Amino acid sequence: MKTSLPAEKVHKTRYAPTPSGYLHLGNLYSFILTAILARDSGASILLRIDDMDRERFRPEYLQNIFETLHYFELPYQEGPKHEADFFQNWSQQHRMDRYTKALDELRQKELLYACACTRTDLQKASLQSGCTGNCSSSYSLDDPGLNWRYRTPEQSQFLQMFNGETRAYSFPVSMKDFIVRKRDGTPAYQLCSVVDDAQFGVNLVVRGVDLLESSIAQVALSHSLDNNSYATAVHFHHPLLTDQAGHKLSKSEGAESLHTLIKNGSTPSQILTLLAQRCSINHPVSHWTDFTYSELTSIV
Ligand SMILES: [Zn+2]
Repeated sequence: MKTSLPAEKVHKTRYAPTPSGYLHLGNLYSFILTAILARDSGASILLRIDDMDRERFRPEYLQNIFETLHYFELPYQEGPKHEADFFQNWSQQHRMDRYTKALDELRQKELLYACACTRTDLQKASLQSGCTGNCSSSYSLDDPGLNWRYRTPEQSQFLQMFNGETRAYSFPVSMKDFIVRKRDGTPAYQLCSVVDDAQFGVNLVVRGVDLLESSIAQVALSHSLDNNSYATAVHFHHPLLTDQAGHKLSKSEGAESLHTLIKNGSTPSQILTLLAQRCSINHPVSHWTDFTYSELTSIV
């Protein structure tokens, strides 16, 4: 069954994996759903790898991304073709000037403040996010070693959804004044993601429902940046695949990591069959094109 969707509205989507662990069946599920949505809407696919978090980055995880996409013949038209190409042309390290420019703009608009609060401070104050006190009047953005927080809006954010609806979301407590520059001076995930998706012209964002609050935060951030188109992107938040015990999958070297399955000799068809079983799909699958939109979106 073909997808019914606002096809005229979307022209580019992306796979946006982070090389912070080995990919699992849930990541494969997300890639396949993205490929199907792209195919059915005529959108192209960008491979955009988030490697700003250097603490968690490992070369074998980067390699695992390419290994997975190639193994399952998952298509993409733009982005790095292999590791060397990635380091040379596509790493987020090459786009540092764009992130700095966005941070400068937010600073000029007085939407940032420096915060010294640690995660422990927040926990003690029973806060999920934000600042526990008066950091904004106690510190300057020029002080070293402090997080830069973005003053998040009070009002609801409107997201364009894949089914054509515009949906209003109140601003999530967990994203209150989220960090846009970390204490080591590097730009944070939400900022890089918004800048990158807008720069590459992505206007269909497919991600797990666990990232809905990120989407709301990113739409708000996009509205604060001149000429940033992220706020107009169409969003599709898919259900999360769970393990047999119903737990969320995590990136690890466990039995269900794609790396382990491939290393142990499982064929693409065998792994796709495992995925199909997890999605309660009962017909044979040997390629990602054997899955359908309606099957993949009704897994709960
Ligand atoms: Zn603070």
